[in-house]
Amino acid sequence: MSEPSRKIRVAICGGGISGLCLGVALSRYSHIKVDVYEAAGQFKEIGAGVMIWARTWRILELMGLAEDFAKVAHAPPDGSMGVGFDYRRSDAPKEGFRFRLVQMPYGCIRFHRASFLDAFVNHLPPDLAHFGKRLLSYAYPSNNTTRGAQLYFADGSTSECDILIGCDGIKSTIRTQMYENRAGETNDSSLLSYIKPLWTGTIAYRGLVGVENLKKMGGEDHRAIENPMMYCGKRRHAVSYSISQGNIVNVVTFVSEPEKNGSYYPDDDWVTECPQQELLDAYKNWEPEVERLLKCIERPTRWAIHHLKPLPFYVSNRVALLGDAAHAMAPHQGAGAGQAIEDAYILACLLGKATIDTVEQALLAYEKVRLPAANAVLQGSFESGKMYEFDSVHGEEYAVLGPAIQAQWNWISATTVEQDVGDAIEYFMRIAPRSRM
Ligand SMILES: Cc1cc2nc3c(=O)[nH]c(=O)nc-3n(C[C@H](O)[C@H](O)[C@H](O)COP(=O)(O)OP(=O)(O)OC[C@H]3O[C@@H](n4cnc5c(N)ncnc54)[C@H](O)[C@@H]3O)c2cc1C
Repeated sequence: MSEPSRKIRVAICGGGISGLCLGVALSRYSHIKVDVYEAAGQFKEIGAGVMIWARTWRILELMGLAEDFAKVAHAPPDGSMGVGFDYRRSDAPKEGFRFRLVQMPYGCIRFHRASFLDAFVNHLPPDLAHFGKRLLSYAYPSNNTTRGAQLYFADGSTSECDILIGCDGIKSTIRTQMYENRAGETNDSSLLSYIKPLWTGTIAYRGLVGVENLKKMGGEDHRAIENPMMYCGKRRHAVSYSISQGNIVNVVTFVSEPEKNGSYYPDDDWVTECPQQELLDAYKNWEPEVERLLKCIERPTRWAIHHLKPLPFYVSNRVALLGDAAHAMAPHQGAGAGQAIEDAYILACLLGKATIDTVEQALLAYEKVRLPAANAVLQGSFESGKMYEFDSVHGEEYAVLGPAIQAQWNWISATTVEQDVGDAIEYFMRIAPRSRM
């Protein structure tokens, strides 16, 4: 018996960028009841920068959030052509040189992560958030699809929902259970290989540099203050861009052992502090402006960069994966958070059209549109990193490498967000039983 008037109960597990964006987007629909379950005691982000591109900005506009995000961007985005990245060859102890300047509408829009997350938190109705709720497992009754799922939390409590969205990050508990369940149901143990994230063979060092400090250290007109920079060299590269109205430069540097891509990282701890000397040693004999920048990072953190093997499905019955839980990727195109926001927006548009009887078709339409797009960005992001380190098929041939790097950014404008939403809704309408809409 259908109950079109009953609210759809959506449980979002995880309150990072993906869970919060989805929570905000769904909270606007009166036929949807949303709960966000976060393991930590509060919503929080690490102290670093995050960049987004024009299509993510368009979503923030469509959600009515652009004004608030503009206040915390490095500068209010205005749609004019801007620098994506200024690519330089930098791994020699002399002045390096530019081998490609990538420009695009809006350029690279950048934020301090804490301000970025807060802009979502400020739009989330407060009663939707539940803290200290680490999901351990979920169970759907196998013989009664009209009943909801039971959620089991580490504090011993339980809850119920109609659909469960895994926004629980790269080590997702929900992905683990979804893939274990499917492997068991289908007798296909190869599905288990999608659960554990794979090390890319790359270590990243991160730090924030005060612009005043950089100027004092002799970098009065340091390029990193003005433009997003990509300093490239063999088996390593360094990214920098200014955030916080231009007062801070965010720096992430990468050191790669490409032969180790696809292995399991030997340590459970993927993020640790490290001495500044380790960072300086990794870029010894690079061009002086890189050394000057790195000398300003007194206490870098060290990150083992992981990604997922592209998943064959994001949805199983009434459970869906979103954000890093679905497609954690290497950060070489600054795209993981933007992809999470696209997931969240498209899923919300679909659920906005669904009833309790058509939620499964809405989830399938989400997967239909988002899986190929996000998996392609995941793979492209990894390939881009190889290009920046002269380890792709184009090697050090700048005449072909430059255009190839440029082409890696085509996904930003290959479709519009509105087209993708239209495709998803059209597919949903096609597969949803008419009698239940
Ligand atoms: C070095 C680096 C630089 C990057 N730079 C960029 C960039 O410039 N631009 C960009 O777009 N992307 C960037 N990314 C990627 C981006 O940070 C991620 O894609 C994004 O933060 C993922 O958000 P998420 O909400 O899916 O996951 P997370 O941020 O990991 O959030 C998951 C949340 O779920 C909670 N949680 C986990 N397990 C449970 C559970 N069992 N129960 C309840 N809650 C749970 C966690 O506490 C956390 O709050 C970068 C990544 C790295 C490593």
